[in-house]
Amino acid sequence: MKILMIGSGGREHVLTWKIAQSPRVDKIYAAPGNGGMAELAECVDLSVEDIPGCLAFAKEHDIDLTVVGPEVPLVLGMVDAFKAEGLKAFGPNKQCAQFEGSKAFTKEFLFRHNIPTAAYKEYSDYDEIIKDLGIYGYPMVIKADGLAAGKGVLIVENEQDARDGMEMIMKKKEFGEAGDKVVIEEFLTGQEASMLCFVDGKTIVPMESAQDYKRAFDNDEGLNTGGMGTYSPNVLFSDSDLNKRIKAEILDPIINGLIADDMDFKGILFIGLMIENGVPKVLEFNVRFGDPEAQSVLMRMESDLVDIMEAVIDGELKDCNIKWSKKEAVTVVIASGGYPGFYEKGKVITGINNVKNCIVFHAGTKLVNGKLLTNGGRVLCITALSETREAARKTVYDNIGKIHFEGAQYRTDIAKFN
Ligand code: AMP
Repeated sequence: MKILMIGSGGREHVLTWKIAQSPRVDKIYAAPGNGGMAELAECVDLSVEDIPGCLAFAKEHDIDLTVVGPEVPLVLGMVDAFKAEGLKAFGPNKQCAQFEGSKAFTKEFLFRHNIPTAAYKEYSDYDEIIKDLGIYGYPMVIKADGLAAGKGVLIVENEQDARDGMEMIMKKKEFGEAGDKVVIEEFLTGQEASMLCFVDGKTIVPMESAQDYKRAFDNDEGLNTGGMGTYSPNVLFSDSDLNKRIKAEILDPIINGLIADDMDFKGILFIGLMIENGVPKVLEFNVRFGDPEAQSVLMRMESDLVDIMEAVIDGELKDCNIKWSKKEAVTVVIASGGYPGFYEKGKVITGINNVKNCIVFHAGTKLVNGKLLTNGGRVLCITALSETREAARKTVYDNIGKIHFEGAQYRTDIAKFN
């Protein structure tokens, strides 16, 4: 098979790494790929948003399966465009990608199908929302409706901050069109967790669990980031009562709701949860693998991912017996100095070859004249698999210091308990 991987982050590197293990795969192309993916795939200079360009490439190179990693091309309808030309592409269609493309769309779905979530109201008019400020008390959650690269959610402590936030989103258009509509929500407390699921239009199958670490610095200090590390399995999900509740109150109603609404969802559904006293509520949906959740979770997958992706596309997921390793995985992200704020790119990376017993997934790197350079906020993800979480954690941290670039920063408390 010939595969085309769309994307250039750590998520796409781990997907490429996993797909490359399939005996069915002869050749992988990556658009645009990164410095690490270049070892497994031929990188082609196409943007993930260039749907006509990617489609023309797939036709010209007889691609058998295109895997769309990031949310932007999914929301733009890349999978629909491929399907219309008779080509196989993995990921939800444009209609279903609205679960990530519109917060209001997801909230309406959750309420329509009685799936537990925070109370909310949606607004397109600035004056209307200002009249309602404070209806949920403080703290309150404000969300730009559309895609905002993970930055469109504000948690405000008082009315003044709420007004400032609304002004920023709706008047100053800090997130562009994503702020044409705004959702305000009741603030939920508890422990956050996420579930990655395969969905084939009829069946939803959760993958092994992972815990991510969103804040930039140790002890959950600093700003929110795309994620600074993960471990799998997540200890929270060792509670069988919680798992039963999640199945009965969330997963079953989701798949029944998709069928009732005539939404042919095929791909990955990432469910963000808030759990308090054993009660799970949905915070958000994403329509692709989490990054860096994918690194820890796919490290533990023993089945052939290409077989599963085809089963998802063909609606045959229920016949798939997905096998997982009992071992535990830990992933730590090395980021550029200053991330998630301003950071410089183009720093020379050294020492990757000295790393032992870990896989180094590239998130933001670029090969220029044979030199590996930083090319993003999150630069590398170091993943280890071991008998225990503690052993995997030790392997990662014994090795991470071997990698150098100017300004490199990482958390030292990923997967650490107590
Ligand atoms: P979202 O993109 O909707 O998941 O929001 C990003 C982050 O904001 C989540 O991971 C939570 O930490 C936080 N968040 C979102 N909605 C709520 C809520 N209703 N209550 C508390 N925190 C929230």
